[in-house]
Amino acid sequence: MNYLTDLTEETISDFRKRYGSEPETVVAAPGRVNLIGEHTDYNDGFVFPMAIERYTVIAAGPGKESGSAPRRGIVYSGNMNEEAEVLLEGAIAPEKEVKWYSYIQGTIAGCLEKGLNPPAFQAVLHSNVPLGGGLSSSASLEVATATLMETISKKKLDPVEKALLCQKAEHEYAGMPCGIMDQFISAMGEKGKAMLLDCRSRVPKMIPLENPEILIMITNSNVKHKLTGSEYPERRRSCEQAAAIMGVAKLRDASLDLLEKYRADLQKGDGLLYRRAHHVITEDDRTVNMAEALVREDWDAVGSLMFASHHSLQYDFEVSCPEIDILVDIARSLTGAGGVIGSRITGGGFGGCSVSLVRADKFESVQRCFEEEYYKKTGIKPTIFATRPAQGAAVIRS
Ligand code: ADP
Ligand code: MG
Repeated sequence: MNYLTDLTEETISDFRKRYGSEPETVVAAPGRVNLIGEHTDYNDGFVFPMAIERYTVIAAGPGKESGSAPRRGIVYSGNMNEEAEVLLEGAIAPEKEVKWYSYIQGTIAGCLEKGLNPPAFQAVLHSNVPLGGGLSSSASLEVATATLMETISKKKLDPVEKALLCQKAEHEYAGMPCGIMDQFISAMGEKGKAMLLDCRSRVPKMIPLENPEILIMITNSNVKHKLTGSEYPERRRSCEQAAAIMGVAKLRDASLDLLEKYRADLQKGDGLLYRRAHHVITEDDRTVNMAEALVREDWDAVGSLMFASHHSLQYDFEVSCPEIDILVDIARSLTGAGGVIGSRITGGGFGGCSVSLVRADKFESVQRCFEEEYYKKTGIKPTIFATRPAQGAAVIRS
């Protein structure tokens, strides 16, 4: 099954049914998975995402120009089974209540600021990135929208500028203070490559991951633990406090030596700041080392780094949860002849997905074992799929 071709056909056919004409423009943008480098982005460190073979596709054609009223676009989301209207000119303020089309409206507002001048349009969109599953359906929606705006406005944006305006849309219109990773990889991903992204310089480096014997397996634990909402800001604050104690601007600038030098201060009270900083400092190293190990195809090193990352997120940063720990334990039991190279939690934490590197010829047996063992231990069925690094945003028809 080709997840882009099938989704594209479905979206085009839906467009024909809804509007009785052929779409002139079709664009796509992928979701993503982060291979390693978790909770490093806001510490100015490194992340290592790749685009996945799951996409948001938008098919569009000319809409009705509205005379004197502000120009508008009409968007139907197949996932929501709902149509929405978005504004295409003037200053567009974020709405108080975030709606699914806020991501689209915010992206359009950013495109207008960058001088794009989109004509009225009507569009249908479908996504096979699971919504709210931690694989960034939101960034794929934003980047697909920006790609549509570029195409119908006949003006290309600088790719970095494009990713940043999508991030701004998520901050200001969807109320989600995310880093730059999701939008960078969805906009600039390359087939067969993962992206080592320095969140300080914002310079991406593409790293080949195209050995046909290796698959990237994503397992959705299908749990999302209720958070109070304070966990993420709390982690950020701890990182800032630890950096301040060590006299560095960001944890990116600290080393293990420096950490040891300030150990006593950082361990005052509950010892929390030491462990939080220990995670970030070692995770930055692991992320850079993982990119190097992938280039050498040193699978033992890659596997150790992924498991070590999980351990650090589980015990030092404390953002895992029992279900994901079970998934990673199952993966550990399948290393070597079992076919698993490495595995770890991916995304912000407290549920969501694990990511594993798996030998392609063992994928089916690994998948079966994950499903059986996870169900036995939790009573929950996981959702599993395999992917290879996919192409970023693309214009399919124009
Ligand atoms: P994630 O990015 O991990 O999938 P988010 O909560 O950040 O989860 O984004 C999911 C939200 O993005 C959805 O609840 C919806 O508002 C919006 N969204 C994403 N894809 C679509 C889509 N195809 N149609 C409508 N809304 C979408
Ligand atoms: Mg998101």
